[in-house]
Amino acid sequence: MQGKGVLNNRISEYVFTQLATIGIPTHFVRSLSMREQLVRAVEIIPVEVVIRNIAAGSICKRLGLEEGTPLPRAIVEYYYKDDALGDPMVGEEHITAFGWAQDFEMDEIIHMALRINDFLSGLFTGIGIKLVDFKLEFGRFYTEEHVQIILADEISPDGCRLWDMKTNEKLDKDRFRRDLGGEIEAYQEVARRMGVLPSADIRDIAEGENRKKRKG
Ligand code: UDP
Repeated sequence: MQGKGVLNNRISEYVFTQLATIGIPTHFVRSLSMREQLVRAVEIIPVEVVIRNIAAGSICKRLGLEEGTPLPRAIVEYYYKDDALGDPMVGEEHITAFGWAQDFEMDEIIHMALRINDFLSGLFTGIGIKLVDFKLEFGRFYTEEHVQIILADEISPDGCRLWDMKTNEKLDKDRFRRDLGGEIEAYQEVARRMGVLPSADIRDIAEGENRKKRKG
């Protein structure tokens, strides 16, 4: 999809920078180009952390909920990162028993995940978007003195469900998953509302970058 990488890069950079202002440690260092970021190398914890505010996607199938039902409170779920197994859902018991993360690391992860959810729910509300659910990944960052759990990966419409506040229009990867079309327009709309949409047309930027790459 022409331009999606550029949009996700911008959106993720903006979100990670905002999270840093409330003291969430992240791997983001700085942007290098339209499609590249300099990040801290982490030892990734092989668990996808999903936070849900409104029922959608797999929780609806699993528990027979109607899509769009507000959840009584934010729910945190874990999925073991293993493509061959299809990223199965796991509990904290599995994570600590198999040593994917330790108890104290899980405490930090849950605490950070809920803070991130509170902050991002507000950030998206401010631009007329409901944060339905999203996925986070964390990693261990080693310095000479200590090890720290920090937020890694990306936060973009590829890993979040974002619905327009008024119309419930989907502004995320479900446009692709459910064959709705208009993916780039939706991602552009999120970037525009955040105030991080590149001024040039996104497809021109993508084409220019591709041309540069072909020239080597
Ligand atoms: N998600 C993700 N990567 C995955 C699985 C899920 O980013 O490998 C995100 C997805 O975009 C959604 C949330 O996690 O925002 C919850 O996804 P769900 O469990 O409902 O699964 P899905 O419907 O995506 O299969």
